[in-house]
Formats: sequence, structure tokens, C-alpha cells
Amino acid sequence: GKLGISIKEDLARLALSSEAPIRLGERCTVFMEKDVTAFMQQGRDVRDITAGLAYAVVHNYLNRVVRGRAIGERIYFQGGTAYNKAVAAAFATVLGKEIIVPPHNGVIGAIGAALLAREKEQREHYRSRFRGFDLSLVKFKIRQFICKGCSNNCDIQECTIDGERTYWGDKCSDRYHKKAKSEQKPVLDDLFAQYNQWLVEDLAGPDGLGVKIGMPRTMTFYDRFPFWRTYFSQLGAEVVLSDVTNKSIAAQGRELCISEPCFPIVAGHGHYLDLVDKNVDFVFLPQIINSETETPEKESWVCPWGQTLPLMIRNGLRDELQVQKLLMPVVHFRDGIGFVKKEMLSVAKRLGVSKKTNDRAVEMAFQAQAHFQRLLLNTGEKALADLAASGRQAVVIVGRPYNIFDPGINLSVPEKLRSNYGVDVLPMDFLPLNGIDVSGFHENMFWNYGKKIMQAAIFVGRMKNLHLVYFTNFKCGPDSYIKHFVRDAVGAPYLTLQFDDHGNDAGIMTRCEAYLESKGLLHGFGVRRPAIDFVSR
Ligand code: SF4
Repeated sequence: GKLGISIKEDLARLALSSEAPIRLGERCTVFMEKDVTAFMQQGRDVRDITAGLAYAVVHNYLNRVVRGRAIGERIYFQGGTAYNKAVAAAFATVLGKEIIVPPHNGVIGAIGAALLAREKEQREHYRSRFRGFDLSLVKFKIRQFICKGCSNNCDIQECTIDGERTYWGDKCSDRYHKKAKSEQKPVLDDLFAQYNQWLVEDLAGPDGLGVKIGMPRTMTFYDRFPFWRTYFSQLGAEVVLSDVTNKSIAAQGRELCISEPCFPIVAGHGHYLDLVDKNVDFVFLPQIINSETETPEKESWVCPWGQTLPLMIRNGLRDELQVQKLLMPVVHFRDGIGFVKKEMLSVAKRLGVSKKTNDRAVEMAFQAQAHFQRLLLNTGEKALADLAASGRQAVVIVGRPYNIFDPGINLSVPEKLRSNYGVDVLPMDFLPLNGIDVSGFHENMFWNYGKKIMQAAIFVGRMKNLHLVYFTNFKCGPDSYIKHFVRDAVGAPYLTLQFDDHGNDAGIMTRCEAYLESKGLLHGFGVRRPAIDFVSR
């Protein structure tokens, strides 16, 4: 690596011989490469740099994971990092306590899982399907291929064991349906599919202007498309959407994007290019600054990446003709309909439409959006009633609409929870969140979606039959802050799933399964799992 040392042989030895460790702060070491390079260029001793890294791991863990909670007297340090003696020594120095690294520390979690499985097997009297440690006795075959079923081109892994095939890596769950892992079936309809269907209803509007407006199927599309489609159809323009996020859109986005934002913003660049390929006359990229709020004394900002995505795209373009085709109004929804009319007038003028038509179109757009919102709430109300009547538990997915409803971002996890595990899944946008006061958990939640996510967490915390799963992105700045308050607001353990550019769902689904199991959701909540006679092979 950059330090020119062997991680296994030298890292801990060099760090332990340092007399003046460098202070590298407490960021995750993954992001410290630049700092390390800078210290190396200054000619700093590699022993002090490696020792600084060991301390950085410790400070990061204590300040970002432990976060002030009590630490006991007997401290076990387990996991792969515990192989690094320098990190163990740094923990001991910082805490002033003895640190015990147990034997087999790298696989201690697996040992724990195996012990739990054995206990369960003995308690519930079923025979284990464990095939033993000697893999040479198990007949299995791994095959990798690219699915040509749609433009996602997912990398699929097919594993065949004793003639039984399982698949991993598909973003949808249509083509390679995994064997259902539970016999239960959801009682609710697929609300995610319904949402996406309602968003694009009546898309083909009148095109009296003879103009095609391209709109990226991401970001504001997912929460406000009824507004935009109504606005343009009232103007007489046809709206053309980019495809659902797929591998090619993500790849194009990476090419055009000049910074290192979260995955939805990278993908947003690709959606723009997809529209260019569709030969639209204009591409509509609104710069939405804030949102309507029921608590006007508090701000309701859209994330800065979301606000400035249009500017980033424009700054990455070399072709002036393409720049001319951008429609980029600045929109403050928080400031009300009169303000929005003024802001949208710039778009209407570019299309040669009168102020009167623009104002009427904005009014109709607000009405369409309100109608859409009512539809969601009415459907959500019925879903909650159906759950209560059936005695079923459900998972509520919280997060931003472009994460919750874009199957290209979230690897179709909501659909997989339904089809693989028979679990009922509710998007937070269907819940009656208005009026829920979050100030008990955060006095000044100024992020628009931060507030909604916290309201959803409080709602879930109040209901005995709901559990929370938080969809977010690896590099999401606001969510890295908001999630700490969500923990208090929901008052129960919840699952966070971070989506980035990786198309493989195996790790995500394993986490989901563990979460569902821990909540008793795999086999009917509160109902003890009946003994199953697994036949060992
Ligand atoms: S809120 Fe998070 S995921 Fe959304 S644009 Fe901002 S950083 Fe990205």
C-alpha cells in the first residue's frame, strides 16, 4: 500500500514502536487517505503515522459508536480489527482499562450464531440442515452471468447445491425468484408499486406546444411528480421521463459527475444523460430550496446536494447547446403558491406561454399534488386498519422518496421483503405524520426530510405493531446526523440500510433477514415458530 509496509507483518509492530503518534482525528480511516498522504509528503515517521491510525480507529469508535454510553469493566475486543495489537493497545491507553482479545476473535460472531442455532435446534426439535465443515463432501457449483432481462444487466451468481439453485445479485426479484423463506403471505397490497403507478398516471398530456420536456426520474420526481406533470400538461407540453435507475444510468452518472456525492446525486447525472439520448427539447432540472411546512417557525431545507444537482450538471457540460436546453427554475415551496407562480414564470416564458396560463398551471399543479397526498393517506389509513384487523405486524420504510421508491437505488428491497419473507411493508409517505411534534427529540430540525423521518419514527414508536427500517445512502450528510435522533424517536432497535453503487443485494438481504428474525416477523409475530422437520442432506 501507500505506506510501503505489510499490513499483517509490520503495521502493529511499527505503531507500537512509535513515541509520538500523529493526531489524525476521529474520521473513519477509509476517508483518511488524503491526510496520510499529506503527512508522508511532509516526511513524517511511518511509525507515528501508523500509531495515529490506531488511535483514530479508537476515537472514531468511542465517539461515533459508543457515543457516551457506559463502558463496563471487562472489555472484550472482537472482530477482525482486534488482530491489530496496536489498536488493542490504543483502546487500553485511551480507556485506562484492560482489553481482552478472545481467541478466534475474527469469527466470534459466527461462533455465537452457531451456538444460538444449536440451542434453537435442541429447543424446537428439528434437524439441522448444516452440511458440515468439509466442503469437499458438498456438491456445489457456482456460476456467474449477466442477466439480460432488462437494462439493469445485473451480475447474477447462481449457486447449485445438490441440484437446488439459489440466485444472488438481482436488483428486481422478478426473474430469479428466491425460494420464499417463510410460508406467510402479506395482507397488504404492494404499496410501493401502487405509489409508482399513481405517480405517472395521466402522464401523456396534451402537447399543444409541440415541445418535449425531459424530466429525470429521480430526486423531486419521486415526491412531487403529480405537481410537475400537471404543470406541464396545463402548459400544453409533453413530459418525457428518463428510465428507472439502472446500471447504464449509474455508469453514465459516474462519468459526468465531477464531485463525490451520494449515489442518488451520481445517478441524477446519469438520468440527465439518459434524457439527452431521448432527444427532448428541454431538460427540466428545478432547483428546489425548501418545502412546505406545518411549523413555519422552523426551516425546512432540501439537502444542499439536492438543491445544487442542476448546477453541478450544468457545470459539467461542455456543449453550449445542451446548456441552452436546461430549464432550471429556483423554487421555494415553503413560500407559498404566489411565490411559486413567480418562480415558475421563467419556465413559462422560455416556452412562450403567458403569465395567466402559468399561474393557472401552478394552481392546478398544487391541487394535483394535494390529491395525490390525500390518496396516499387514505390508502395508508386503510392499510393500518387492515393490519390491526388481521393482528399482523409490519415494517415501515422511512427515508427519502428517491431511496424508498426507486427500485434501481434500493435493489427492490421492499418487494423482496414481501415476496421472500411474506412481510407487510409500508412506506412512511402513507402514514398520517402531520402534527407530530419532533421538538422533544430535536429542538430545531431544519431539514425537510429530517423532520418527516423523525415524525415517522415517533409514529412507529407509538404503534405496537410497526417496526422501522431506514433507507439511506452511504455518503448522505444529513442522514448521518438525523439517524442519531431517529434512534431516540423510535425508542427501539431499528435497521439502517445504506444503498450505494453496489448492485449485489446479498449483504443487504442477510441483514434484513436477521432483523426480521430478531423482531419475530419471519413466522408471524408473537406466534412461536412451529417445529419444522428439516431433512438434513
Ligand atoms: S439528502 Fe442525502 S441522499 Fe439526498 S441528496 Fe442529500 S446527501 Fe444525497
